[in-house]
Amino acid sequence: MRRALYPGTFDPIHLGHVDIATRSAAIFDELIVAIYDRPAKSLLFTTEERVALAREALKDLPNVRVMAYSGLTVDFARQVGAQTIVRGLRVISDFEWEYQMALTNRQLAPEVEFVCLMTRQEYAFLSSSILKEVALLGGDVSRMAPPNVIALLEDKRQEMEQRRGPVPLVSLRD
Ligand code: ADP
Repeated sequence: MRRALYPGTFDPIHLGHVDIATRSAAIFDELIVAIYDRPAKSLLFTTEERVALAREALKDLPNVRVMAYSGLTVDFARQVGAQTIVRGLRVISDFEWEYQMALTNRQLAPEVEFVCLMTRQEYAFLSSSILKEVALLGGDVSRMAPPNVIALLEDKRQEMEQRRGPVPLVSLRD
């Protein structure tokens, strides 16, 4: 059984993530989409919301499970019996970060392999930060995110508007 882990923040999951998960699910027997509990980023969604959004978005893929985790990604990979960690690559700057992480993780867990899948061209610009920024400013995100994510982003936009007036820009940093 080839089990892979696809870890990330997924705040929230978007179509670039769904594409990487779909393609990984076709390569491995089982894919665990692992949602990092407390990343060093400011989050719009709670862990429970991020997990629920990803579960709904990936529900048609029978060999995909979504789980939350905390601590080292390689420790979680060992815990769930994943031999491979999958990541997605958009641009060269992603590669530099992934390369550094892969070498660090290899030192920590030499038995865990790292695989990077290239994004599809139409998602090369897409990040959760871009999605949140466009959605919270009322733009059309129908080609960026699954319907359940779009609906919850709209709820958040309305909630923030009622609480604080016009929605502030969220950081472009992913
Ligand atoms: P992290 O905080 O770990 O980078 P993200 O949720 O931003 O978490 O991304 C999770 C993974 O998905 C990363 O490997 C990232 O490079 C990849 N990814 C993000 N956006 C895209 C995209 N548009 N196309 C392909 N892969 C992507």
